[in-house]
This record gives sequence, structure tokens and C-alpha cells, in this order.
Amino acid sequence: VIQLFIPLNFLGFVYREIRRALTDMNRMFGLLNIRPKVQDAADASELQVGSPSVRFDNVQFGYHDDRRILNGVSFEIPAGKTVAVVGASGAGKSTLARLLFRFYDPDAGGILIDGKDLRGFSQASLRAAIAVVPQDTVLFNDTLFYNLQYGRPGASRDEVEQAARLAHLESFIAQLPQGYDTPVGERGLKLSGGEKQRVAIARALLKNPAILIFDEATSSLDSVSERAILAAIEEVAARRTTLVIAHRLSTITHADEIVVLDQGRVIERGRHEQLLAAGGAYAGLWRLQQSERSDPIHPPSLQP
Ligand code: ATP
Repeated sequence: VIQLFIPLNFLGFVYREIRRALTDMNRMFGLLNIRPKVQDAADASELQVGSPSVRFDNVQFGYHDDRRILNGVSFEIPAGKTVAVVGASGAGKSTLARLLFRFYDPDAGGILIDGKDLRGFSQASLRAAIAVVPQDTVLFNDTLFYNLQYGRPGASRDEVEQAARLAHLESFIAQLPQGYDTPVGERGLKLSGGEKQRVAIARALLKNPAILIFDEATSSLDSVSERAILAAIEEVAARRTTLVIAHRLSTITHADEIVVLDQGRVIERGRHEQLLAAGGAYAGLWRLQQSERSDPIHPPSLQP
């Protein structure tokens, strides 16, 4: 009896210690969260929108007081339209997306959804209305089906398969030995960058958001993957208010408007053809990317 009692007692001790450690962590995070930067307004309302317009109105922002990242950025994404933001690395493109998702609040100016400042909506309802297709998607150590369904837990098999079809993943899945039940992630099948991004697009389709943020991957994809992603994005962006953070200009030639950002300011805006005709910064970037593309086997850096 005594021999049995001691180990059980010991286990109980270990169990209590683990619980205490977890409680301590909670308390620590609780303390850290006493004054979060972003808070719901006392009278926050629920954002309920079909197809909203999104307007950046003279937005100023810096992550730290000593460095301004956005210097009065204004542009509008009309309801259901697609606006692409381009500009050099560090220009502030991803920062715009983070502000729209309300990871941070602007220092001045505001972001309006259907004319209302987004700080007036609860964060939960705001984030439920927005889907993000990130550059690099996190995959769980589980089946491909689980990873797709994550976009809307509880979605039916049919709904998941339809989203995968629209995201142009069908032929990829068809060639996997276990199809949808193939384990993926760290300990399973490794997906390419383009395949992972299409998983993210399928998740976004399942979430069925009013607003879509598409953060295009910087790493270059082969042209077949790029075409598949473009076609998939067209599916999910159709009729949704979409912000594309673009790195390759070839992917945004059909955007309703292109906004060129430079050091936190909008320096040009218009449709692809208009910006080419204007012969400014965008036209310069376009020429540069076209010349890089036309000689993929002998990129300039490898030539004598
Ligand atoms: P890229 O094309 O390389 O993704 P970007 O235009 O999206 O660039 P942002 O990510 O918006 O650029 O970053 C704008 C500037 O803000 C950069 O100079 C960056 O170093 C800085 N920055 C980004 N995130 C933070 C952060 N969490 N804290 C401090 N500075 C940051």
C-alpha cells in the first residue's frame, strides 16, 4: 500500500506543479494585457457587411515614435473591387494590411469601412470579416483535409472539396497517394510555396470573408504555379473587397487600381495601362521586372 501511495503522491505533486506553472503564465500574460494598445471601444458595434468599401484616410503610423512608416496615406478600395499596393521593400505595404486587420491603430488619420472608422467595431467582428492569405502559411501536423478545413472548422467534406477545386488544388491532391487524408506539415508531406499559398486561398474561400487581404509571396514561383495562384485568387477576390500586397507586377495588371507606395507616401495611382503611359515610377519598375523575366536562364548577376 505504501509503495503504491508514494508514486501516486509524487505524480500529484508533479501535476500540481504543472498547473501552477500554467496559472502563472496566464497571470503573467494577464498582467501584460492590462493595457493592450488596441482595445475595443466601450460602445463598439458588430461589423456586419456584405461587400464594404475600405478607405485609408490620411493614415500616419510608426511602430516607434522616432520613425514614421506611413506619412499620410489615402486611397479607397470600392466595394467588391481589387486594389494592389506596390513599392520597394520597406515602403510600408504590409503595414497597411496590419492596420486594416487592426494589429495596430494609426497615429493619425483613420481606416473607414463603409464610411465608419474601424475602431468603432469590435475586434472579433472585424477579424471575422477579413481573411488573410499570407506569404507563408502555417500547416499543422495533420491531414491535408484538416489543414484545409481550418478555414472554417466544421465545414463539410463537400464544402472543403469545393474550396480546394476553386483554389486549383484538385490535380495536386489527386496525385497524392492518400488524397485528402495525406499527412502534411513538419512530419508529413512538404508542400511547395505555391501549394501552401493555394491551401491558404482555399481556407479563405471557406471563411467566405467580406474583405480579403492577399500578401503575395516574395519568393518567385515557376510560371505554372503562378498561373494557378492567379486563377485561384481571381476566384476568391471576385465580388470581394480585396487588398493585394504585390511584389510581381505581372500578377496585378488586372487590378481595378494600383497604388504605388514610396517611403510611406502614395506617389502614383491608376490602372496598369494608365501608369505605363504615364512613364513614372511604376513604368520604371515594370521595365525592370520585364527585363529580369525575359532572361531567366541567364540572370544579369550570373553573366560575365
Ligand atoms: P516588403 O516588400 O519587404 O514586405 P513592405 O513594404 O511590406 O516591405 P513593411 O513590412 O510595411 O514593408 O515595413 C515598413 C517598415 O517598417 C520597414 O522599414 C520595417 O523595417 C518596419 N517595420 C515593420 N514591422 C515592424 C515592427 N514590428 N517593428 C518595427 N518596425 C517594423
